[in-house]
Amino acid sequence: MPNGYWGKLLFVNLSTGEIAVETPPEEVYRRYLGGYGLGAWVLSERIPPGADPLGPENVIGFLPGLLTGSGALFGGRFMVCARSPLTGGWGDSNCGGNFGPALRGTGYDGVFVTGRAERPVYLYVDDERAEIRDATDLWGLDTRETEAALRAAHGRDVRVACIGPAGEKRSLIAAIINDDGRAAARCGLAAVMGAKNLKAVAARGKARPPLADPEAFRRITDEYRRLFRRKPSPWASRISGFLLRALPMMRRLRLRPSGGPTSIVIDTYRLYGTAAGTAALVELGDTPVRNWAGIGYRDFPLHRAARLSDEAVIRPKIRGYGCSFCPVACGGIVRLPDGDTDHKPEYETLSAFGPLLLNDDLEVVMRCNRICNRAGLDTISTGVAIAFAIECRERGWLPPELAEELPLDWGNGEAIVELTARIARREPGLGEWLADGVRRAAERLGPEAQEAAIHAGGQELAMHRGLYEPGVALGYAVDPAPGRHTSTLSGTVELPPFMPYFALAGVKPGARYDYETKGRVMAVGMAVLRAYESLGFCQFALYMGEPPFLAWLNAATGWGMTEREFLEAGKAIQRLRHAFNERHGLPREFPLPARERGEPPQEVGPLAGITLDVEAMTQAYYAAIGVVEGESYPKMGTSP
Ligand code: SF4
Repeated sequence: MPNGYWGKLLFVNLSTGEIAVETPPEEVYRRYLGGYGLGAWVLSERIPPGADPLGPENVIGFLPGLLTGSGALFGGRFMVCARSPLTGGWGDSNCGGNFGPALRGTGYDGVFVTGRAERPVYLYVDDERAEIRDATDLWGLDTRETEAALRAAHGRDVRVACIGPAGEKRSLIAAIINDDGRAAARCGLAAVMGAKNLKAVAARGKARPPLADPEAFRRITDEYRRLFRRKPSPWASRISGFLLRALPMMRRLRLRPSGGPTSIVIDTYRLYGTAAGTAALVELGDTPVRNWAGIGYRDFPLHRAARLSDEAVIRPKIRGYGCSFCPVACGGIVRLPDGDTDHKPEYETLSAFGPLLLNDDLEVVMRCNRICNRAGLDTISTGVAIAFAIECRERGWLPPELAEELPLDWGNGEAIVELTARIARREPGLGEWLADGVRRAAERLGPEAQEAAIHAGGQELAMHRGLYEPGVALGYAVDPAPGRHTSTLSGTVELPPFMPYFALAGVKPGARYDYETKGRVMAVGMAVLRAYESLGFCQFALYMGEPPFLAWLNAATGWGMTEREFLEAGKAIQRLRHAFNERHGLPREFPLPARERGEPPQEVGPLAGITLDVEAMTQAYYAAIGVVEGESYPKMGTSP
C-alpha cells in the first residue's frame, strides 16, 4: 500500500448499478496530488466533450484532499467536481465541515458517480461496503432533515453531503450541504446531483492511510500547533494593543491581543470568523454595494455596515463551530429570533444579503442564510440574483407580471426574505426566473439588462471587487471556474507561505495596480494555491504563520518533494482545468461586467478613477502559467 493515500478510487454508475474500484498509478498522485487535482485527471478522461452537464454522461466526483483526515492542522476539507451546468465548463467546489475526513476514512481517495438513477437514491460508503440505496423517502426533505434521517439510519458518526429541494429541482445556483450548513456551493454542482437523482453521499469511515514517517509527521504538527497555544509576548502585545486602539474601526472589536500580528489574526478568526471584516471591507471599497453600482462609504456608511460586522454578528452566537482538525474554529452556531438555530452567516453571505442589497438588518441576513442552508442554495449567487431583480424592477426592465409580484426595493427586508424562499422553491414567477442565476435571467429581458447581470461565464461574482484588489478580477476572468474569489484572492496568495514559490519563479509581488506584474504573480500564486487546496487545507491557515504543508506532504508520502515540484504540480492541476474547458469549447477568458472593470470609473471614494487593465493581467497570466493549446492529459493506467 502506498504511503499517505489509499491508491483506490470508487466508481459508481447509477444507470447500471455497477460499482468498481480502480487504482491510478503513483505518478498521478505525485503530479496531481488529491482533491480536485486528482478529480481533474479523472474527469478529463471520463467526461466526453460536449456531454450535457445535467445528463447521465457527466461525472461528479467527491474527493478529500490528499492529506484530509491525516491529522495535519486545517486539513479537513473535501472537494466536489463535475462539468458545471452553470458555466458549461470545469466545475469544482471546496468545502469544510466533517464530511471530508469521514469520506477519506472509508478507504478511497475519491468517489465518482456517473449515470442517472431511475428513482431517488443515495450512496452509502463505509470501509467495508459501497451501496446504492433507495432515497424515495428522503426526496423533498431539506438538508437538515436529510442529514438527520441518514444519521438515524446509519448511526451518529455517519457524515452526509446532500442536496435540498433546490438541487432536486436542478437550480443551477444550488449548493451541496454538509454539517447543516457548510456548503460546496459554487458552480451549480448540486444540480448535477439532482439530475442524477442522487440525494446524498453518506460516508462513515475512520480509517487512515499509513504515513511514511509518522514520527516526523507528529513533530511537524506539534511544532505548528504551538502557534495556537503560545504565551503572550509582552512587547508584541503592547504594540498590537496600541494599533488596535489607534484604528478607530478596530476599537469596537473585543480582542485581547496576546502576541504579535499572527496572534491577532488567530484571535480575530476565533472570535468573529470572517464576519470580523465586513464593515472595514465595505469602507475600503472591497465589498460590492447596490449591485456593483454603489460606493461603500457613501451608499452604505460605516454605521450601517457595522450592523453586519464583528460584534453584531456574534451577539446571537450560542456556541463555536469548527471543521475537523481545525485549531481555530472560526464558525459559530447562532440562535435566530424565532428560537431556531443555524450557522453564523459569514462575510460572503453578510455582504450578498447586506450591502449588495442595501440591507443592514442582520435578522434578514440570518433568515436568508437559513433558507439557503436548508434548501441547499449558494448564498453568493442568490444575493446577486436578488440584486439583479431589484435593479431590473427599479429601472423598469421587468415585465409587469414579475414587477408586480413583490415590492422589490433596495433594503426591503421582507421582500428579500420572501424572494429567497421563492428561489429556493423554484416557484413560478420570480423564483423560477432567478433559480438558474443572472445570466439566464438576463437572457429573458432586453439587451439593456445585461449590464446589471454581474457574472463571469455564467457564475455570479463573489463579494470582493477587482477595483480594490486587481488579482481578484483576474481570477474571476481566467480561472477555469470563473467568478470565484477563492481561486485567486491576492490577500491570500501574496502571503509569506507562498514567498519561496515567487522567488523560485523569479517574480516579486509588486504594486497593486502594476497589471503585468500582477498577472505573473497571480499565475504562480494561483498554481501553488491549487496544489495547497488539493491537499485538503483551509485557505485561512495561510494567514496564520506558515503552515508546513510541504513538510506534512513529505512526511506522509515519503516523496521528498521539492518546492519546485510542488509548484509544478500546481501548474499541472491548473493547466488540466484549463484544458478541460478547451475540450468542452469554452473560451480562455470570461468577459467581466463593465462595473467590475471600473468602466466608467467611480467618481468618488477610495477607488475613484480606477479602471482595470484586465487584458494586460490576462496575457501575463497565460505566459506564466504555460497553457498551451490542446494540453494533453494522462490516460487512466498510464504515466503522466
Ligand atoms: S479556519 Fe474556519 S473554515 Fe478554516 S478549517 Fe477552521 S473552522 Fe473551517
